[in-house]
Amino acid sequence: MSTFKARIEIDIPVAALIAGDLDWPADRHGQAAQPPTFSLFEGADPATSVVEIFAAGPVDKQQLAKFLEALGALAGHEIPLPSFETLPERDWVSESQRLRQPVDAGRFTICEVNQRAGIGETREVIVIEAGQAFGTGGHESTKGCLMALDALADRIAEGTSPGNALDLGTGSGVLAIAMARLWDIPILASDIDPVATETAAANFAANGAAGIETVTADGIDDPAIAARAPFDLITANILAGPLIGLAPEIAGISASGAALVLSGITRDQAAQVQAAYIDAGFTAESRIMMDDWCTLVLRRDA
Ligand code: SAH
Repeated sequence: MSTFKARIEIDIPVAALIAGDLDWPADRHGQAAQPPTFSLFEGADPATSVVEIFAAGPVDKQQLAKFLEALGALAGHEIPLPSFETLPERDWVSESQRLRQPVDAGRFTICEVNQRAGIGETREVIVIEAGQAFGTGGHESTKGCLMALDALADRIAEGTSPGNALDLGTGSGVLAIAMARLWDIPILASDIDPVATETAAANFAANGAAGIETVTADGIDDPAIAARAPFDLITANILAGPLIGLAPEIAGISASGAALVLSGITRDQAAQVQAAYIDAGFTAESRIMMDDWCTLVLRRDA
């Protein structure tokens, strides 16, 4: 079935009002089989938001216009008529997979198996299918971590390579695979989400890194993690909030001199996350900024 789309760019409070009005009365759906869904995002002008309304099947435009008019009257705002579009029938999942481009980060290229043949031999290729776990390479936080690992490998002289690594919040397993490519060392990959650990394990096998062990655990409070500690290389691409909360525990499983790569942090949050780790006994070594995202590299004090 084709998808109907309406789009309006309006003042933020009015946009929020429309998007928040989830009880769009059934008699206004026109012939749509299901209630429409609303999405709200930032407009080109910072004072505005864009509301997009999607519905499966045709929608009665006049009814929609009347509904918006009534909503506007209620809010004391005039709501302009949206632009309408009918999206062609598509399988969005396979579409997005087809459109996914290989991603380069440092010496690594992340791609899907059918893109493998087109990639130069000098690249360190990691094959990750678009799937159920985060970490197909496109996100700045993943790219930042890959670049940090790449730079660490350049800096670490022969004979002083890390000996025991943890990838906390492994998702697709992409960072653990990158570590396995750089160093022939034991690696443990953990995630709170069992779907992620399963996906990661499949990706390890597909990338010749079946030796990486997985554990499903919330944070680091798990016997499998404790048994492998201390680590001298830890990657954790989670989010600023949990990273700040985990700082003392991560310090507790880090060997002295351990390298720590943290990501999932926005530019604004970087100072706060860094301060939490400095308090926990780390020294800031470098940071990689990409768009709005920041990857921090820290070193556990001796
Ligand atoms: N390491 C991958 C995935 C990052 S997405 C990459 O860099 O692309 C973050 C992952 O952390 C998700 O898979 C999520 O399930 C996991 N996660 C979130 N909170 C966690 C926690 N408290 N403990 C362990 N894993 C967690």
